[in-house]
Amino acid sequence: MDPKLFPPENPVFGLLAMIGRTPLLEIRFSVRGAPRRIFAKYESMNLSGSIKDRMALYILGRAYEEGRIREGDEIVEVTSGNTGISFSAVGRALGHPVRIFMPNWLSEERVKILQGFGAEVVPVAKEDGGFLGAIRLAEEWASRNDRTFLPKQFSTDWNVEAHYRGTGPEILDGLRSLGLRPDAFVAGVGTGGTVMGVGRFLKERVEGVKIHPMEPSNSPVLSTGRKGGVHRIQGISDEFVPEIVKLEELDEIVSVADGDAILMAQRLSRFLGLAVGISSGANVCAALKVLEEQDPETIVVTVLPDSNKKYLSTDLFSDEPERSGYLSPHVRPKRVRAFRCP
Ligand code: PMP
Repeated sequence: MDPKLFPPENPVFGLLAMIGRTPLLEIRFSVRGAPRRIFAKYESMNLSGSIKDRMALYILGRAYEEGRIREGDEIVEVTSGNTGISFSAVGRALGHPVRIFMPNWLSEERVKILQGFGAEVVPVAKEDGGFLGAIRLAEEWASRNDRTFLPKQFSTDWNVEAHYRGTGPEILDGLRSLGLRPDAFVAGVGTGGTVMGVGRFLKERVEGVKIHPMEPSNSPVLSTGRKGGVHRIQGISDEFVPEIVKLEELDEIVSVADGDAILMAQRLSRFLGLAVGISSGANVCAALKVLEEQDPETIVVTVLPDSNKKYLSTDLFSDEPERSGYLSPHVRPKRVRAFRCP
């Protein structure tokens, strides 16, 4: 990230060069035979391989600044995915013990990756309340042990700030160096940190820019306010609308079918060598959908949050049927150009 974000005496300073400042990609496609392009940040180049490293590093940096965490304190988080991996990697790099509470029905490889980073993994069964039960257990643990730090990714403003001060400025500077400016940004909502942080930064600086949250069409939590359904775009649309998401600050919600997201992620890998995860496929579908409604020269930006490596046992590596209404069967990825962060 920007080396000026934290001073050299902050313990996170020594890791800033491994997180953020990711390449900005210009990806060209043929969509229903017509040339189209979008821009995307390539986030699997971060330390532990996902966009969540930005949040983990930033939250810890701010917590040190405010004396909320001290050397040797245990980091306690509830997560099923990238956040746990990021806090484990960054936490261990800074010498903290890490304890992760997670639902026990998640994949074996996730548990192994976390344990490989030296984290203590506490499985939580459905009978103990599943995801919400895991949150309760983590809070109980922290209240009984005083040398603990709970990052609380779904409610802390530091999650939004990580993107307001990192991802957002990188996107604007990256496009500026190409003589361009963003017209729209779209991103799937997990905690909402990405869409809220980048969104606020761009809205303050680019008149008329549109900021679109994306959700799975089979789990319309944002557009209905109801509990989410089962879907395959891991990392987004959990069971509730996160506290940091303020829909009134955002533009129209874009929805993407999980099968369409899987097909798009497979195409990005097969045609362009971009080995991305399912939410990246969903974000690209969403960006192309936004573009379809606009002038073809519109500059639409998104993020590719992680790589395909954690999805080896999922449908990302099977034959996914093409269905009517999907966009990806009409899309042929053509070319990618990467630009270093200026
Ligand atoms: N994609 C993946 C793979 C993720 O792990 C996450 C984070 N949960 C997201 C997208 C969404 O990011 P955010 O939490 O900033 O909304």
